[in-house]
Amino acid sequence: MLEFERKKLIETEIYEKPLPFFNPEVYETHLGLSYLREPGVAIISIPYVDLRGAQGFLDGFPRELEFFKYLEDPTPIPSSEALCKFAGQLCFLSHGPQRTMNKDAQKYFQNIKESGHGSVLEHANISILLWGVSRSLTHELVRHRAGFGFSQVSQRYVGGRTLRFIERPEYVDDAFLHELFEDRIERTQREYEGITDYLLEKQKAGSEILSADRKTDLRKKVRQAARSLLPNETEAPIVVTGNARAWRHFLNMRGSEHAEIEIRRAAFETYRCLSQVAPLLFEDFGVAHLPDGTHGLTTHFPKV
Ligand SMILES: Cc1cc2nc3c(=O)[nH]c(=O)nc-3n(C[C@H](O)[C@H](O)[C@H](O)COP(=O)(O)OP(=O)(O)OC[C@H]3O[C@@H](n4cnc5c(N)ncnc54)[C@H](O)[C@@H]3O)c2cc1C
Repeated sequence: MLEFERKKLIETEIYEKPLPFFNPEVYETHLGLSYLREPGVAIISIPYVDLRGAQGFLDGFPRELEFFKYLEDPTPIPSSEALCKFAGQLCFLSHGPQRTMNKDAQKYFQNIKESGHGSVLEHANISILLWGVSRSLTHELVRHRAGFGFSQVSQRYVGGRTLRFIERPEYVDDAFLHELFEDRIERTQREYEGITDYLLEKQKAGSEILSADRKTDLRKKVRQAARSLLPNETEAPIVVTGNARAWRHFLNMRGSEHAEIEIRRAAFETYRCLSQVAPLLFEDFGVAHLPDGTHGLTTHFPKV
């Protein structure tokens, strides 16, 4: 990456300009029901790194080792990279002048990837808000267990006017499939509202199966029944926190040409955002232009 681009990136962190995001358009059916065609991706958190507290640790070693100069490295690097590099260098107590300096961080991370010492990449946690993604996408996403945390919209609590839907790419340019989609989601929403209203009435009339002490539990009992008719194409916003190693695995699996098209699109946009906040951790990924006009991701280091 060009030096001035890296400088710009670091200033972005320092001056708190927005973290990278991709904001897709929201469409409406002729009855005003909202739907999206592309995933929204926004990085909402990156590590905050302040190594000044480590000075005491560095000062405690013999002066001739010059560990105390570690924080004087003149080249700033993005927080995720700084954190992982510090953690990795601690393993060998590489704090002296012979260590890899920040200006050679690219070489440092290349070596980490080549040698498969990916555990140091687990220190950098990055949180991403995904929206404009379907329930079928998030069902695949939450299969990723190692290094991820998820908070997904609850269909037991939330519904009504916040319900939105996702149009498959295959439907967008096909008038017949597109019309079917719009009709279907409007019908779905009507049925959902109809069942909710009916169950609320039953609740008021004292139905035992719908009874609960707390107001939120009452609503939950109604919505958990009504949601059974919601299709896979219902939107399911989700916050995902993952460490850089876990994100790399996700990009590798879901950016693959064999991955399902919607999650591959989300993986691609996620990659574009991640590579802006921690370029050296993701720079080995290349973009593949697939025959169907979509993008995939490839890397020589699939299992770091
Ligand atoms: C193209 C594609 C098609 C798929 N098709 C199907 C399908 O038909 N049916 C289906 O059920 N799923 C399917 N999946 C999901 C897939 O099987 C995985 O569940 C998902 O991709 C998560 O991968 P993972 O387990 O490697 O990731 P993570 O859960 O994030 O794990 C990361 C890595 O940590 C290690 N790890 C994690 N947990 C354990 C453990 N318990 N023991 C040992 N090592 C562990 C492994 O090395 C693993 O690769 C598909 C995925 C893809 C990409």
